[in-house]
Amino acid sequence: MKKLDAHAHVGTFGGWANVAITAEELVQQMDACEIEKTVLCSTGSDDNFRTKEAMEAYPDRFWGLVYANPLEGEKSVQEIYDLVQNKGFSGIKLNPLRHAYVADAECLDPIMEAARELHIPVFIHSGHAPYALPWSIALLAERFPDVNIVMIHMGHGHGVYIDAALKMARRYSNLYLEMSGMPMNSKIKEAYETVGSDRIFFGTDAPFHHPTIEMQKVITSGLTEKEIEDVFYNNLQKFMAQYEK
Ligand SMILES: [Zn+2]
Repeated sequence: MKKLDAHAHVGTFGGWANVAITAEELVQQMDACEIEKTVLCSTGSDDNFRTKEAMEAYPDRFWGLVYANPLEGEKSVQEIYDLVQNKGFSGIKLNPLRHAYVADAECLDPIMEAARELHIPVFIHSGHAPYALPWSIALLAERFPDVNIVMIHMGHGHGVYIDAALKMARRYSNLYLEMSGMPMNSKIKEAYETVGSDRIFFGTDAPFHHPTIEMQKVITSGLTEKEIEDVFYNNLQKFMAQYEK
């Protein structure tokens, strides 16, 4: 079954993670797992050029996200404008855990305003206290109801956070869920049925997780084949299509 991947990286994560993938390796992995296209970001705010190179090397295989650090102020906003207006990038990636700011912090306002003006989505890491919890992301969604926010990992590894991700997404219609790294297959069906059939996306978080492992969660989720097609493909296709220039 063909798929789209709502979250992957290109580059090297050292330290505790010790994982890496090149654009070439990523495309090979996508081909092996029938992943047509991937929402791609780099490893941090200093290597967005890697995403740009991957998009240039493999046109039609990637939607590029600008990895922004709001603590860098005007620099990050300018980079968003440049990469979206001139280089074909499609959205913004934020990681409050990595850069140490609360997910609803006011320092995000210029970035969210840029997203609104450029009409692009914001993908934000979730699942780690104290910075990247679903409730804080929901407060951000509440302040910017006209910007679509994808909650990457939908709470990640903690059951209470996963439940909160669903609750918050039910409350705010501009919140979408991406499932990489989230271990509870039952929550995929629950989200499909109670948040919205078009508001949950398959993702891998490559190179952290292999697609085949992430795929198993969807296959065993209890959804029908038609519903699995939505999660694997139709939902992200429809979501990203609204941003095509
Ligand atoms: Zn990631």
